[in-house]
Amino acid sequence: MPVLSIAVVGAGPAGLYLASELMAATDRDVRVDVYDRLPTPFGLLRYGVAPDHLKMKALAVPLQRTVEDERVRFLGNVELGRDITVEELREHYSAVVYSYGASSDRRLGIPGEDLTGNVPATEFVRWYSGHPDTVTTQSVLDAESAVVVGAGNVAVDVARILVKAVDELDETDIPEPVLAALRLSKIRDVHILVRRGPAQVKFTTKELRELGELDGVDVVVAPAALDLDPESAATLETDRVAKRNVEALREWSTRAPTGAQRRLIFHFWTSPTEISGTDGHVAQVAVRANRPVAGQSEEPIRAQLVIPSVGYFGVAVPGVPYDEATGTLSNAEGRVLRDGGVAPGEYACGWIARGPSGVIGTNRSNAKRVVELMVEDDLPDVEPWDAVTALTDRGVAVVTREGWNAIDAAEVALGAGAGRARTKLETWESLLAAGRG
Ligand code: NAP
Repeated sequence: MPVLSIAVVGAGPAGLYLASELMAATDRDVRVDVYDRLPTPFGLLRYGVAPDHLKMKALAVPLQRTVEDERVRFLGNVELGRDITVEELREHYSAVVYSYGASSDRRLGIPGEDLTGNVPATEFVRWYSGHPDTVTTQSVLDAESAVVVGAGNVAVDVARILVKAVDELDETDIPEPVLAALRLSKIRDVHILVRRGPAQVKFTTKELRELGELDGVDVVVAPAALDLDPESAATLETDRVAKRNVEALREWSTRAPTGAQRRLIFHFWTSPTEISGTDGHVAQVAVRANRPVAGQSEEPIRAQLVIPSVGYFGVAVPGVPYDEATGTLSNAEGRVLRDGGVAPGEYACGWIARGPSGVIGTNRSNAKRVVELMVEDDLPDVEPWDAVTALTDRGVAVVTREGWNAIDAAEVALGAGAGRARTKLETWESLLAAGRG
């Protein structure tokens, strides 16, 4: 019997919020097939949100309820453009929603980014999150000094994971090989390069403050960096987050060093200009002062690891209209645009639609808005498509909800052996083997 049948591509927060909002918004018989190229749902909640942010990680509980809903089917290990085409989805569903996020990153565009030891934050996050596509080897942590470029929350996550005491990460789901590497880490100094001033950082205050509360870590901020120019001072009048960030930084600038093993050193108004290496490996970062700050050196920074953390970037997918300048899917508020006009029955939600900004919850309001458009558009019912059989027949090893639940159980069992709530499986082989039950 025909029903409202929706394909959602990307089982991250945006896609799963969209599924739950849609089911709540309609009285019609609805079926939602949620595809993901990974064998696991939850997208950046699983592979982006820092493993030690347990409260945020708990948002997986309501998302799992959506996965468990009898009107929803999870189709993991299915990649759009490889295993299934956009044309097929448009043919078989009442509508298609693209919510596959932003899986690449912005580059600095300076010489030396190809050196070993230059690891974009997206990749470093993948590594410590146990993403099966990670290419980072444990040797990155042979570094004694690291440079993190950028002033967003991802830079904060990366810097924190680099310096945090490993014992405090035991309560996370970080894979064992990653924990072992962190345990052997020789890191002493992490330099955070911020191209503008303390009033312009993109950090949220709670996340920033956390850096000042880490055991065994001194935070170093040159007091002169807090001598604000008139424009920055005016920003604090209207922007409460900026005001609180500056307060936190000001307090750190007055702290005397404790001689801690590890240091986080902020360099404001500073941009990297070149990464140079020895034997193909990062050795130092030349910097430029965008404004002089007393007490901040312009000398090159000795470092064996560089982590540019200057934003995620969406990638093109075959058959989906893509805006190269913004790395987003061409859309108007969530309705996909093809050849300058709205493409009926195609929608976009989350980072691929609006760019890589906002917190997990932002995707919920985004999903609500897209569902409003879908309801407004009065989508047709169609005969449900047996996608699992069609894909299995062409040799795709679809990981269904049962498969994901088996992966979940395997990870919980692996964690229990080490007294942890969960230890993530971090390879395609182990995930797919667990998914086969
Ligand atoms: P972001 O917040 O957009 O920050 C990017 C940073 O990179 C900005 O400070 C930007 O500086 C800087 N930048 C860009 N190009 C640069 C260049 N060429 N050289 C030097 N610096 C450059 O991005 P994000 O940190 O990747 O985070 C993405 C989103 O996820 C954000 O909305 C963030 O809040 C969210 N997130 C939240 C949490 C959390 O809530 N705990 C954790 C992680 C991520 P300018 O401002 O000067 O452009």
